[in-house]
Amino acid sequence: MVRQLVRPRDPVEVPLVDAAGLVLASDVRAGLPLPQFDNSAMDGYAVRAAEIAGASALNPVVLPVAEDIPAGRVDELVLRPGTAHRIMTGAALPRGADAIVPVEATDAGTEKVTIRESRESGAHVRRAGEDVAEGEPVLRSGQQLGAAQLALLAALGHPRVPVFPPLRVVVLSTGSELVEPGRPLRHGQIYESNGIMLATAVRAAGARAEQAHLVTDDVGEFAEVFAELVGDTDVVVTSGGVSAGAYEVVKDAFTGRGVDFVKVAMQPGMPQGAGTVDGAAVVALPGNPVSSLVSFEVFLRPALRAAMRLPRVQRPRLRARLSERLTSPAGRRQFRRGVLDRENGTVRPIGPPGSHFLRYLASADCLLDLAEDVTALAEGADVEVWELD
Ligand code: AMP
Ligand code: MG
Repeated sequence: MVRQLVRPRDPVEVPLVDAAGLVLASDVRAGLPLPQFDNSAMDGYAVRAAEIAGASALNPVVLPVAEDIPAGRVDELVLRPGTAHRIMTGAALPRGADAIVPVEATDAGTEKVTIRESRESGAHVRRAGEDVAEGEPVLRSGQQLGAAQLALLAALGHPRVPVFPPLRVVVLSTGSELVEPGRPLRHGQIYESNGIMLATAVRAAGARAEQAHLVTDDVGEFAEVFAELVGDTDVVVTSGGVSAGAYEVVKDAFTGRGVDFVKVAMQPGMPQGAGTVDGAAVVALPGNPVSSLVSFEVFLRPALRAAMRLPRVQRPRLRARLSERLTSPAGRRQFRRGVLDRENGTVRPIGPPGSHFLRYLASADCLLDLAEDVTALAEGADVEVWELD
């Protein structure tokens, strides 16, 4: 259901610098050959190979140096028979030259050069089009753009690239007991931690989230802040206020407004809400930190990645042997925090199942995915594991 709610954005063109990590939205053909012109692969001398055939230390060939060609020289040069041009790596080969003698095989002369080694025709010359021929397909729609892909686009002269844009996510924490870190706490108050947790998880999933927002359990205030934030937002993720008690602000504000509040047979994270309000997908996560992050992992992370066409929609999953026995409630899919020992292929569950044990969440590197029908597992039993970052 959450996957259906989270809709992709239309492709847009962005400067290359903003495209890192995003997915290319159209095929790219080379509008230029790469290299664009024959050029030198070495610092040395452009020559006619036939004129230095047989050159050796005892029998060197001496040629006048008619031109000096640094990389970036833009006039078109011709190598006259019986001469050499000093040339640097990346500089255009003069017409008539067919080989480069590396500077190491010469006396590095600037008026005339003594060449102590011969070279075959074509030696140390990079041919136009040998990397990419003009018109050739080089990248395809759906590829994620990393360093090398963006370098190729730049080398082909593209200042911008069409991509599937990142989704914009607003994180909204609810709870009258919550206080921003840095301020003093009174009795009964706690520091707000889901906001930074969920905003960071959203960013790690490849979407955009700014600093999280915080509201009390007042329905009027919640509705006001929501209305202010919802514009140009793809997804609003709330935490807290969805369970069975009184003062359930998210539930109270959104019931009958297009959000379904349900109990999912999972632990942690039983109470959940999802729907669409004012054009934005709303995913209402439970307030307990472990429930909140596990629910994000289970429901929202895959939906965000799929909508942005990102690869690895699901966390990598593997099987590992339990390093100790555990029990799990019947009829509920349980996600336990764990630490993997990759060398031995084992996983150790850490922390109790309770959904407020934040510290164990912070030392886990995986989730154990225990099916609804599992009630007890012996040490050494095989379990499904989701690898976290
Ligand atoms: P709730 O789902 O609102 O009933 O909250 C369940 C538990 O999670 C309570 O102990 C809350 O204090 C705690 N909680 C809810 N939201 C946050 C938050 N943003 N940061 C830290 N703890 C929270
Ligand atoms: Mg609350």
